[in-house]
Amino acid sequence: MTRKGLRAENGIFPGGEPSMTANLQQVKAANRSLIFGSIHWHGMLSRAGLTEMTRLSPTTVSSLVDELIGLGLVIERGPAETRTSGRKPVMLTINPIGGFFASVELTQAHFDLALYDLNCVELGLTRKKATRYAGIGARLIRALESLMLECGLEPKRLQGICVGAPAIIDPERKVILISTVLPIRPGTEFLAELQSRFPGIPVRLENESGLRCYAEMEYGALSGMRDLLYIDIDEGIGSGLILDGRIYRGSTGRAGEIGHVSIDYDGPACVCGNQGCLELLANVPALIRRVIDGMESGKPSALRAIIAGHQGRVNLEAIREALELGDSLAMQAVDETARLLAVGINSVLNILNPRAVVIGGRMAELGQPFIDRLEDHLARIALGPSSGVKRVHRSAVEGNAATLGGARLLLDEYLRQPGLGGEDGP
Ligand SMILES: [Zn+2]
Repeated sequence: MTRKGLRAENGIFPGGEPSMTANLQQVKAANRSLIFGSIHWHGMLSRAGLTEMTRLSPTTVSSLVDELIGLGLVIERGPAETRTSGRKPVMLTINPIGGFFASVELTQAHFDLALYDLNCVELGLTRKKATRYAGIGARLIRALESLMLECGLEPKRLQGICVGAPAIIDPERKVILISTVLPIRPGTEFLAELQSRFPGIPVRLENESGLRCYAEMEYGALSGMRDLLYIDIDEGIGSGLILDGRIYRGSTGRAGEIGHVSIDYDGPACVCGNQGCLELLANVPALIRRVIDGMESGKPSALRAIIAGHQGRVNLEAIREALELGDSLAMQAVDETARLLAVGINSVLNILNPRAVVIGGRMAELGQPFIDRLEDHLARIALGPSSGVKRVHRSAVEGNAATLGGARLLLDEYLRQPGLGGEDGP
């Protein structure tokens, strides 16, 4: 797993200008986060190394390091091995057992629950079938309690829980408003059950595409980019947005519903009430349908031979194999799908101007030929001259990006809380 540092940030003050004290607390929290993040990124650093890296004063570094040691988040490792004589520096490293986070991904058929240490390294994972979501709160609590026990972790060291769901989430009530994927009754208050079982720690509910985008920013090939659009293409088309390093959720949690951007106002009717939604025209089933239509129209294609090895079914794997052979029918279907996706994605690029677009979900399994077609179509319709820099990338996070993103979000928020180092909250 790649790692990178956290960054000091300018505070955002929704309640208006902060008081001087609140401002100082924000700066202190950001610096603490910067120190922790630098150690997290490098694995091991001395105080002098931290001073050089963060450009903070030696006194500030020393005081914040002492604070992190006092909180049990950072530990000292004996003097570093040096070839030179003289005093050897004490090295600092993250205390992996200083705390841990629980991160959950809800899907149509199961939920994954993973525990991560303060280095965001996975400590344990459990997958439970969930075809019905009645009683999901109690099931999550049971799964979490037994996984903590199995991993030998003390519940009092649990620092936060994040639940990612393919859904529109009410940010105030912390409930799912709409999900076309999960068999859950809108408004089910399962998060409140988790919160009452684990009082005093943050319990979050987030759109899973937002969490995947967050993991992409922190651990993907584009790590460090602070403005990213992540698009998950499967049966549905979802997206996550990172603007200035933070997940953008919108005023009522509905930001990023790119699947319901219409690209044909006379197109087929969608469940959302709109017509010609991107999701209907450019999802994985639409691509497969396009390929089957081509085959049924009698076009020559290597796919007829390829699908013999896939029980006669056209699936993404068969299309990928055909692409590798340069099959013209597969190329045309993928090109048309990429063209339609580019029309939808371009609308978002024109409004928000993110630095890069990351493609995840099953469609990404088509690999570079698909990514290249999408890049070409976007370059063709983009506003203004191309910078020549590739903007479309395939998701590069290893493991479950939704649970990893959730754990990292909890870690970042934990480090940013003003009261962490003992100072009073604003
Ligand atoms: Zn729609």
